[in-house]
Amino acid sequence: HATLGVMGGGQLGRMFVHAAQAMGYRTAVLDPDSASPAGLVSHQHVRTAYADADGLAALIESADAITTEFENVPAVALRALAERRPVAPSGDVVAICQDRAAEKAHFVAAGVACAPYAVIETAEQLAAVPDALLPGILKTARLGYDGKGQIGVATREELIAAWALLGQVPCVLEQRLALHLELSVIVARGADGALVNFPVQQNLHRDGILAVTQVPAPDVSPALAEEAARCAGQIAAQMGYVGVLCVEFFVVRTESGLRLVANEMAPRPHNSGHYTIDACDVSQFELQVRTLTALPLVAPRLHSPCVMLNLLGDLWFDAEGRERTPCWDAVLALPGTHLHLYGKASARPGRKMGHLTLTGASLATVRATALRVCSLLGLPSDGLV
Ligand code: ATP
Ligand code: MG
Ligand code: MG
Repeated sequence: HATLGVMGGGQLGRMFVHAAQAMGYRTAVLDPDSASPAGLVSHQHVRTAYADADGLAALIESADAITTEFENVPAVALRALAERRPVAPSGDVVAICQDRAAEKAHFVAAGVACAPYAVIETAEQLAAVPDALLPGILKTARLGYDGKGQIGVATREELIAAWALLGQVPCVLEQRLALHLELSVIVARGADGALVNFPVQQNLHRDGILAVTQVPAPDVSPALAEEAARCAGQIAAQMGYVGVLCVEFFVVRTESGLRLVANEMAPRPHNSGHYTIDACDVSQFELQVRTLTALPLVAPRLHSPCVMLNLLGDLWFDAEGRERTPCWDAVLALPGTHLHLYGKASARPGRKMGHLTLTGASLATVRATALRVCSLLGLPSDGLV
């Protein structure tokens, strides 16, 4: 029985563990949190910090091949593991994805446009920022997620204050674009260069956090979808990527029509790809297993239109701020409703607790079900009406 190891024990690791176990593998999770969502369901759970030498040695001892479920694993840890075991994705590509400056430079190298930006690491660079980047969004180069580590700035004064507020750490300033819509593409690339992609997802974010994903993307033309898939494949191939990669795109309107702009990428399965578990014949997590173990990659097929709704911790509190469990009965009484909860011990507003995937015969039916769910749970319905 081969054992697959994963760095990180969050919900992405948990769903990787589910996929690996379904295919007969044993699993080992490295995460310091003794109640991590993936650690709770794994055969083994190494409870140390990510770069802890004893923890890495224990993972090497247990696992025959190792992957990661989040991009902030120190690249040095992945490189150390790779000296003894197959590791995918590699420390080198994860290092690119960890740093917005390196990531944007890579998009440009792969021939894919990104938002106009400047790297800010020094007071001199801050002073030299061109006016054309304002109004903009200042983002820490590292460690941001769910819109954390980002401040919108309209003027130079605001920019200076924002950089101070972020601790004067390395940042990128991006021009704020007028978004027509947002989409993402998930690709899987094997060590032999084989490349497959999932259908393009249309995403709605609220307060910087993914809220709704719809597939097939209702407002994306086949030509634009094909272009996005081609760009994502190019971004993966250009860095010799092995594993599952998600590329987020903005769609902006220009005089010559709609244009794709790469936003950021994640070297792992992605929240916008959770629908693949219930709506595709192979999930993003199964493809993560297959890329890690050099099993054949097959082009995924969407067998059902779907809407994915994220379930944030806010749902676990009533209007008076008292903790409660959402009432799932009425939701699960609707056809084609798939509930996924991540087993997190405590809810916090904004914390990803689970998701719902709704499947049905047509996107129109599924959207109608999604509206019912939103009204039952008290979720906003923008993007679905
Ligand atoms: P994730 O959880 O996806 O990793 P993140 O914290 O890395 O999120 P981004 O993807 O950089 O954040 O931005 C979050 C959201 O903020 C985007 O999906 C988009 O809605 C908005 N946004 C970010 N950058 C821009 C921009 N340059 N112009 C307009 N909107 C933007
Ligand atoms: Mg991000
Ligand atoms: Mg993002």
